[in-house]
Amino acid sequence: MKKPCQHHTHKKQELSTLTSRLRRESRKVTGPRSAILEILRHHPHPLTNKEIFAELPAGECDLVTIYRAIQLLEKLGMVKRFDFGDGAARFELVAEGADGHYHHLVCTQCAGVVKIEECFPAEIERQIATKNRFQAVTHRLEFFGVCPDCQK
Ligand SMILES: [Zn+2]
Ligand SMILES: [Zn+2]
Repeated sequence: MKKPCQHHTHKKQELSTLTSRLRRESRKVTGPRSAILEILRHHPHPLTNKEIFAELPAGECDLVTIYRAIQLLEKLGMVKRFDFGDGAARFELVAEGADGHYHHLVCTQCAGVVKIEECFPAEIERQIATKNRFQAVTHRLEFFGVCPDCQK
C-alpha cells in the first residue's frame, strides 16, 4: 500500500500563477511557453523535451523552440532537470518557494515514476564537504526498482 505523503497529493499549479511568474521575470508569455507550462502542470512526473513535443498540438511549435523554452524555465528556477540515467533529461515544474529537492523511484520495467521523500541525512553532506574542503555540497540521486504492478 502506498504511504500517503505530501508529494503524492500533488497540487496542480494554476497556469495564471505560472504565466505571471514569467511576466515578473520580464519574460514574454509566448504561445509555446504557455503551452509547455500547461503540459507540465498536468504531469506530476518529469517529462523529456520529446514527450512535451508529443503532447503539443501538431504545428504548435518545433522541438528547438521547446528546448529553448525549457532552458529559460530552468534558468528561472520554474522547472527542475532530472536524470534517470537513460540519456534523456527530464523536466518537472517546481512550485514557487519550493527547493525542488526530492528524488524519484523509477520502475525499470514500465518506467513508472514515484516521488519519494527519503533523502540522505544532511550530516553525510557535511562530512563530504568537510573531508574534501568543499562548500555548498548537494546531490542528485534517483532510485530504480520493479513496481508492484510489474511484479504480478
Ligand atoms: Zn512497473
Ligand atoms: Zn536528496
